[in-house]
Amino acid sequence: MTELTAPKSSITSSEFADELREQLKYTQGVTVEQATAADVYVAAATAVRRHLMDSWMTTQQDMINGNTKAVGYLSAEFLMGKQLRNALLNAGLTEQFDEAVESLGFDVQDVVDAEYEPGLGNGGLGRLAACFIDSLASLGVPAFGYGIQYKYGIFRQEFDEDGKQVERPDYWLSNEDPWGHIDYGRSQRVNFGGEVVEENGKRVWKPAWAVRAVPVDYMVPGYASGRVNTLRLWQAKSYDEFDLLAFNKSEYMKAVEPQVKAENISKILYPEDSTEVGKELRLEQQYFFTCASIHDAIRVFYPGQDKPDLTTFPDKITFQLNDTHPVIGIPELMRVLIDEYGYDWDTAWTITNKTFNYTCHTLLPEALEVWSAKLIGKLLPRHLEIIKKINEQFMAELTGLTDDAEKIERMRIVTDGKEPAVRMAYLATYAGSHVNGVAELHSQLLKDVTLRDFSDLYDKKFTNVTNGVTPRRFIKLANPRLSNLITEGLGTDKWLEDLDMLEGLVPLAQDDEFVKKFAQVKMDNKIGFSNFAKRNFNIDVDPNTMYNTMIKRLHEYKRQSLKILELIADYADVKAGKLDIDKVTPRTVIFGAKAAPGYYLAKMTIQLINNVAKVVNNDPDIKGKLNVVFVPNYNIRVAQHLIPATELDEQISQAGKEASGTSNMKFALNGALTVGTLDGANVEIRARVGADNFFLFGMTVDEVEAMYANGYDPRKYYESDPRLKGAIDMVASGVFSNGDEDTYEPLVHDWLNKDWFMTLADFTAYHDVQSQIETLYGDQLEWNRKALLNVANSGYFSSDRSIEDYLERIWKTGPMA
Ligand SMILES: *Cc1c(COP(=O)(O)O)cnc(C)c1O
Repeated sequence: MTELTAPKSSITSSEFADELREQLKYTQGVTVEQATAADVYVAAATAVRRHLMDSWMTTQQDMINGNTKAVGYLSAEFLMGKQLRNALLNAGLTEQFDEAVESLGFDVQDVVDAEYEPGLGNGGLGRLAACFIDSLASLGVPAFGYGIQYKYGIFRQEFDEDGKQVERPDYWLSNEDPWGHIDYGRSQRVNFGGEVVEENGKRVWKPAWAVRAVPVDYMVPGYASGRVNTLRLWQAKSYDEFDLLAFNKSEYMKAVEPQVKAENISKILYPEDSTEVGKELRLEQQYFFTCASIHDAIRVFYPGQDKPDLTTFPDKITFQLNDTHPVIGIPELMRVLIDEYGYDWDTAWTITNKTFNYTCHTLLPEALEVWSAKLIGKLLPRHLEIIKKINEQFMAELTGLTDDAEKIERMRIVTDGKEPAVRMAYLATYAGSHVNGVAELHSQLLKDVTLRDFSDLYDKKFTNVTNGVTPRRFIKLANPRLSNLITEGLGTDKWLEDLDMLEGLVPLAQDDEFVKKFAQVKMDNKIGFSNFAKRNFNIDVDPNTMYNTMIKRLHEYKRQSLKILELIADYADVKAGKLDIDKVTPRTVIFGAKAAPGYYLAKMTIQLINNVAKVVNNDPDIKGKLNVVFVPNYNIRVAQHLIPATELDEQISQAGKEASGTSNMKFALNGALTVGTLDGANVEIRARVGADNFFLFGMTVDEVEAMYANGYDPRKYYESDPRLKGAIDMVASGVFSNGDEDTYEPLVHDWLNKDWFMTLADFTAYHDVQSQIETLYGDQLEWNRKALLNVANSGYFSSDRSIEDYLERIWKTGPMA
C-alpha cells in the first residue's frame, strides 16, 4: 500500500472548471470560446490564489499575534521560476487543474507555457533565495522575502548568425502578472541626498529627494504546512510624477524627469557599474529596498504604535543579509533607532547587532563589495557618519583584543587614505551576530583566507550552512516520472517533506528490476527533453546519445573552456585518424549559460562553443556521434526540463572558487552522475553518494595554492600534452571561424599566457577521467545503479535541511505554533 500525504483540495475538477469559467467571465470578460490559453492561465492563477488566500491571511495573523520570531530574508535577487505549477501543487489542485483545463477544451501544456518566467536574478544566489523561502513556508516558519521588483530582469539571450550572444530586454511585466498584488497603501518613503545639520545637539538629516517604495506582494505557499508566507518586492515610484507646468510649456521630457529618475531605481537588475553613475544607481537600489523593508517590518510588528518598544525588535524578526547587497541596512537600522525613535547609541547597537546576520557567497577578496565613502556621503550622508562611528568603535574594540597593529589596520571597515572606502563585508561581519559560508569547504576557506583576521578574533561568529534546493520544484515538479518511482519504491510520498527518506532507496539499488525502471524513467525524460528542445528552440537532440550537461553562468572560474577544449581535442583526434569514431560513446554535450554583457572573454567562449557545434555537428566524419548543443536563454524552465534528462553533469570549477554550487545538488537528486573537482559542495556530495559514484579529477585547493605560489605557466601544459596543443591550435587556426585566425585570438592568448583559473593544468586529468566515464556508460545497468545511489544519498541537499540549520545555528526560531 502506498501512503499518499500530498495536499489535495476537496473540490472536484468540474467545480474547478466552474471557477475558471467564472474568472474568465467576471474578471477577464471573455467566454470560454473566446479565451486564449493565456487567458486560461490568468484565470487559473487567479483561482489558485483565491484557494490560498485564507491560509495567507491566517499565516500573517498568526505571525503578528504569535510569539515566534520571523525571518526577513533580504536579497537583491529572487529567481522564482514559473509559479502556476508550484501554487497548484501546494494548494492540492494539480489534478483538478489538468482535468478542468482539458474539459474546457484547452491543452494543459499550452496553458502552462503561457506563463512568462520572471528573471529577477542572475543565477545561484537568486535561486537559493527562492528555494529558501519555499522551505521556510513548508516548515511553517514565519518569514518575509524582501527584494526589488525589477521592471526588467536579467536579459533574454539570443545568438546571432556568428554564434555571438545578443542581449534583449526582458519585458516580463508587459505580460499580465496575476501573482503580484500591488499595495499602494503600504508604501514607504525612501530619502536620498542632502545634508546633515546640528539641531538642539542632535544630528538631523535633511534629505534632498525621495522616492516612494510600493510593495508588490507574492504568495509563498508552503508544501503540506497550511502556511503561506509573503515575498514582498519593492517597486520605485515618484512622489511628484509629473510636472504639469513644464508639460504645458511643451517641455515634455522635463515634465517626466522626476518620474524617470525615481523609476530608474527599480528598472533593471544589476545596472552596469563600470561608470560612476552606474555605481550610484546600484547603491540607490540597495538602500531603496533595505530601507523600505526595515520600515515595513516595524509597521508589521508594531501595528498602530507611535512609540513602539524597539528593544524587542530582535525578538520579532531576524534579518538575513544574502551577500553584501543589503548591508547598508545596518547603518539604516542604527539611524532609525537613534534619529527617529530616540534610542542612545549603545541600545541601538545592541538591537542592530542582534537583528542582522550575514551570508558570504564568495572567496575572492576582490569580489567583496566596497563603496567609496564619497559616494555614500553624497547619497546617504547620515549613514556615512554612522558607519564612521561604527568603525571608530570597532578600532577601539580591536585595540583591546590584539596588539597586532597591522592586523587592526587591515580590518578597518572604513579604509584610510586619500579616497576612503567602506568594506561592506567587514561592516556586516562586525555588526551582525553570525557570518556563514555556504558549504563546508567554503566556510573553512572564509575563516582561513577571506575573513581570516575576523575569525582569529571573533571565531564564535563563524558558522557553516551548506546550501540546498527545494525538492518540490526540483524533483516533484521537474521530474514527475522519478517522483512516482520514488513514491512507489518507498511506499509513501512523505519524502517530499523529509528528503532524508530517500535513503530508503539504497537497498533498491541492488534490485535490478527497480534499477531498470529507473533507467526507463531517465530514457523517457531524455525523449521529453528532445521534444522540448525541438518545440521551443528547433534543436535536434538524439535520445540515443549520452546527455552530458553543463549549465551555469558563464565564468572563467567555472571553466566551460575546459569542457569545450576536451571536446575539440576529441574532434581533432578523429580528424587526424588517432581516434576511431566507431569506438566513441555517442554523446550530446549540452550547454546553457548567460555571460555578463560586459564580460568579453565569457562572451567569446559562447561564440566558440556555438561555432564548435556548427562544425562538429555537421561533419560527416563524426557520424552524429559527437553533438554540441547550446540551449539559449538558460533559466529555471530550461533547468527543470534538462536536469531530469541529464546522465552526466559537469561541475568542473577550479578548486577553491565555487562557493557551493546548487546545480550539482539538483543533478544528483535527479539521478545524474557528476564529473567534478573537489570544490564547493561537490566535496560533500561525493562524501555522501560515495567516491565510487562520482567522477573526480583535478587539483585540490592546496595544489592550486601551491601552484600560484610557485608561479604558474600554462605554456608548460600546452607543450607537454599533444592533445591539448592540438585543440588550442585548432581554435587558433580558424577551424571554428571560417578560417579567420584572429577571431579567438584574445581567448587563445589568455589560455597561453595567463589562464588564471588553471584550465590547462587540469586538462590532462580531465581527459583521463573520460575513459572511466565511457567504460561505465557501456554497462547501462551499473551506470543506472550508481545514478540511483546518487538520488538515494542526496537527501541532505534539501533546502529544508539548510533552513533547519539556519534556524538552529543562527536564527534561533522555528515553526509557528
Ligand atoms: C540552480 C541554478 C543556478 C545555479 O547553478 P550553479 O551551477 O550552481 O552555478 C543558476 N541558474 C539557474 C537557472 C538555476 O536553476
